[in-house]
Amino acid sequence: MKQQLEILCQLQALEQKRSVLAIQKAKIDATEVRQLWQEIKFLGQKIAADQEKIDCLKKVSLRQQEDLAILIEKCEAAEAKMYSGKITNLKELEEMKNKSEAARKEIGGFENEVLMTMEQCDQLTNEVVTQEELLAQKRQQHSQCQHILVKTLADFEDQIAKIEAECKILSRQVEGELLRRFRELSRKQAMPIARVENNVCGGCRMSMPASRLVSVAGEILHCENCGRILYID
Ligand SMILES: [Zn+2]
Repeated sequence: MKQQLEILCQLQALEQKRSVLAIQKAKIDATEVRQLWQEIKFLGQKIAADQEKIDCLKKVSLRQQEDLAILIEKCEAAEAKMYSGKITNLKELEEMKNKSEAARKEIGGFENEVLMTMEQCDQLTNEVVTQEELLAQKRQQHSQCQHILVKTLADFEDQIAKIEAECKILSRQVEGELLRRFRELSRKQAMPIARVENNVCGGCRMSMPASRLVSVAGEILHCENCGRILYID
């Protein structure tokens, strides 16, 4: 009986260890991995949106440049005519000069617009480059974090599986009735078997008379106070 109770004590200790590991495993925090994933998603969306803006700006810039070229062409043609010497009417020449000056002013304003669009495009392109670098960093961080998380979980599962296998082996070595009582008690108590030291129950600390602690013919002794199976060294 003593040997059987000793095995049961080992089984209880292992099952306790298994519970602790299961709690620790459940507490493993995946917040960092989730947060990084959110950041990656957000950055990806931002880059896509900025890229769309850049494409749009490039189209606008191209159209502006085309319009500007037409405007310059027209202006130059008019100026060429004005300076050709073919027009001799002073009033007409004066009008043409005024028109040409106004056209040159308009061209100047338009050139500024073209430059501004190009600058916007360059600025946004630089921002996208920075964001893409950050995205690559975040992806690497996420991959490392996830790798650690998966490994930690796998380590826990491995330890738990080993303990469960040991528990199975030990359970088979315990006699049926004793194991049945142990299991029944373990539904109510976390530690259903208690060591007795100096006549004191290791489970509830209740002191018992030495005469109560004598087991006759393999009888299973229980604590009168807490009901635990008693193991006397
Ligand atoms: Zn007790």
